[in-house]
Amino acid sequence: MQSLNKKQIIVIGAGPAGLMAAEHAISADISVDVYDAMPSVGRKFLLAGKSGMNLTHAEAHENLLSRYSDSSSQLEAALNAFPATVIRDWADSLGIPTFIGSSQRVFPIDMKAAPLLRAWLHRLRESGVKFHMRHKWQGWSEKGHVFHSPEGVKNVNADACIFAFGGASWRRLGSDGAWLTPFQNNQLSITPFEASNCGFELVWTDYFKQNFAGKPLTSVSASIVTESGLTQKRQGQFVISDTGVEGSLIYALSSQIREQIRNTGSCDLLIDLLPGRELERVQRELSSPRGSRSLSSHLRSKLGLHPIHTALVYECLESTQIQDVQQLALALKAMPLRLLRARPIDEAISSAGGLNWSELDEHFMLKKMPGHFCAGEMLNWDAPTGGYLLSACFATGAAGAQGAIKWIKQQG
Ligand SMILES: Cc1cc2nc3c(=O)[nH]c(=O)nc-3n(C[C@H](O)[C@H](O)[C@H](O)COP(=O)(O)OP(=O)(O)OC[C@H]3O[C@@H](n4cnc5c(N)ncnc54)[C@H](O)[C@@H]3O)c2cc1C
Repeated sequence: MQSLNKKQIIVIGAGPAGLMAAEHAISADISVDVYDAMPSVGRKFLLAGKSGMNLTHAEAHENLLSRYSDSSSQLEAALNAFPATVIRDWADSLGIPTFIGSSQRVFPIDMKAAPLLRAWLHRLRESGVKFHMRHKWQGWSEKGHVFHSPEGVKNVNADACIFAFGGASWRRLGSDGAWLTPFQNNQLSITPFEASNCGFELVWTDYFKQNFAGKPLTSVSASIVTESGLTQKRQGQFVISDTGVEGSLIYALSSQIREQIRNTGSCDLLIDLLPGRELERVQRELSSPRGSRSLSSHLRSKLGLHPIHTALVYECLESTQIQDVQQLALALKAMPLRLLRARPIDEAISSAGGLNWSELDEHFMLKKMPGHFCAGEMLNWDAPTGGYLLSACFATGAAGAQGAIKWIKQQG
């Protein structure tokens, strides 16, 4: 039974950030109540587990920190306290061992989220965390936090509150950004949400779309030249979609692509279809006599290229460029794809933007509203896929809870 003088923390948002906050808060012998608008917890977390849940990344910790670019310094202390090794130990403690994949990404052994979430919820409930589902936070009133629930409007007060509302993608899973208005009404500054780790649109011909949408281009590299003349390059794979391109290689460059589209209206992505071969070698191979062979079989026999590569050549180049060996070789090493816009935020894996760092102190507490803490994707940071998103959600959830515990203790 809860003792009468036990302090209480409420956590609003039962995604990975909120659940991690609840886990840390309950371990400090504080009463913890978790509220969420949805009928069940962790819906986005479960979706993330559908295509292979990537919990964190096993690269050197300094490299992991650098993935959060502009927000690395604000996230550093939280990530130092909750590095990949701790995430792996935590999953282990739930009976879910992890393994490191070939790209250094860390996955649960069965790649899924559901068994992990089940074990996690069981442990949280056993340790006393109480869950209140279908409770949508509306804002503050003089009576405390206001929720809409199946029983009507409820007012809730607590010694501290941790917000973990998530970002703004996949709104049907719960993170719909409705919290932005009450926050803005309280003079809390926000950077508008934008799609991140998302596909981008470009114009394909009907022929190309019909024949190649859904097909991957593997072992290629993609680069963009930024306005300051810097080349950003990544290697990997992407998928042709009906509307353009998507997949991990595109996601890895999504913040730079977004910025270039914002500044110039489009972004020229250069695809190297033969990253293992120097330009001179490609030119030499292409210069050998083709005889009566089609371009497709010439490209296949000389350079090991597939029909999708040849189709891309025809899709992106003028016939004069295709006839000219030098120009063709150059294009195979830097095929230009003009990206016009990001796919809608609702389809994105994550969102950039959110509550600005200037609103928070080093314990993730709102400076203007002491006793209120924030964690997870609702904060203004961005990172590529690869386990970095969940890593920062876990780490800020834990840090927000530590901040709330410290604050409650200070209040006596
Ligand atoms: C398809 C897909 C695949 C992904 N794969 C990976 C992956 O492999 N690795 C990785 O690191 N990341 C992955 N992600 C990203 C990761 O799932 C998110 O970054 C993470 O879930 C964000 O956690 P969060 O706790 O901040 O927010 P969320 O998980 O979005 O949870 C927020 C919670 O707050 C609740 N809420 C929102 N507003 C209110 C309100 N007003 N009142 C009450 N409750 C509210 C919501 O209902 C929700 O339950 C993937 C995402 C998607 C969409």
